Amino acid sequence: MKMKAAVLYENNKPIRVQEVTLDDPQNQEVLVKLVATGVCHTDLHFIKGEMPQPLPVVLGHEGAGIVEKVGPGVTSLKPGDHVVLMVAYSCGKCRYCVGGRPTLCAEWLGYHMMGTLPSMTKRLHHDSQELNHFFSQSSFAQYAVVHERTAIKVREDAPLDRVCLLGCGTSTGLGAVLNTAGIRAGESIAIYGCGGVGLSAVMGAKLAGAGKLIAVDTMDMKLAKAQELGADYVINASREDPPQRVKEITGGGADYAVECIGNVNVMVQAFSSIHNGGKCVIAGMAPLGAMLNIAPFEFLLGKTISGSVQGDIRASIDVPKYADLFMAGKLPIDKLVTRYFGLDEINEAMSALEKGEVIRAVVRF
Ligand code: ZN
Ligand code: ZN
Repeated sequence: MKMKAAVLYENNKPIRVQEVTLDDPQNQEVLVKLVATGVCHTDLHFIKGEMPQPLPVVLGHEGAGIVEKVGPGVTSLKPGDHVVLMVAYSCGKCRYCVGGRPTLCAEWLGYHMMGTLPSMTKRLHHDSQELNHFFSQSSFAQYAVVHERTAIKVREDAPLDRVCLLGCGTSTGLGAVLNTAGIRAGESIAIYGCGGVGLSAVMGAKLAGAGKLIAVDTMDMKLAKAQELGADYVINASREDPPQRVKEITGGGADYAVECIGNVNVMVQAFSSIHNGGKCVIAGMAPLGAMLNIAPFEFLLGKTISGSVQGDIRASIDVPKYADLFMAGKLPIDKLVTRYFGLDEINEAMSALEKGEVIRAVVRF
């Protein structure tokens, strides 16, 4: 079929919106008519070439839409189902998937690096040229063909132009706090970075009943949003020393700190914000090759530093649950979306994201 898609041909160049061809879904794949897709900082990292990805590529990895057609062997979905497309495919069979940590799946990164679907083949073309898939998804397009395990069914009354954020950023922030940190009611937490991931972490901490909930950023607009979402204290890092302030507020350091930016200096600050025996979670994605400089002596104080991939969620359980919490008014993810764009405005959306003019931008089809 013919459809409109946003194709990146060269790093640091504008994305081209053009007509491309999408092949039919094959074994265990579904065709999804996209209704909306989040525009994530991760897309921006790949546009800039900070992370490896074969080109040309149709970016986008927070799609949500309606299943239009299913390929042979599909058992979990049928036409008409509403789905959120996940950034991370999980095979369901490797040691990580079987062990309950599907975001660590041994397979998905390989498909991503090759720009293919899990079948190791591609469904996207422009004339005779094959186009690469992005995270086996490519949601900056009117339609996507994905493996059925990439598409998580959600309730039909959940607005897809908001729950699309559960495909990556919002699940990452919520999960970093609820799963990786494992915060319990009354515990204190400092969240570094109040973009889409950080503010989702704030929501997760609020939901879990955090005691002192502290948000750190350099932009007052974002800190105001953090307060709206439940932060008890905000620290503007351009005016104050965040670790020192966190220690003052908590009386010696927070139980948890979560870094949601991907900046090694901020990671050091987050680690410095926890008390002895505290836990620091790194949810941000630093550029490839960056190194983290912390004193190993701190480990003798019982401090923990822990990585978090996509918030350690189990998508098939957690995404429908988060959608339920949103619909019940307990998880206001709609407050993250500050601007909607059309697919033709994808470059404007990217630039608004880069300049920090939007918390979360969403493309509606
Ligand atoms: Zn797996
Ligand atoms: Zn993302």
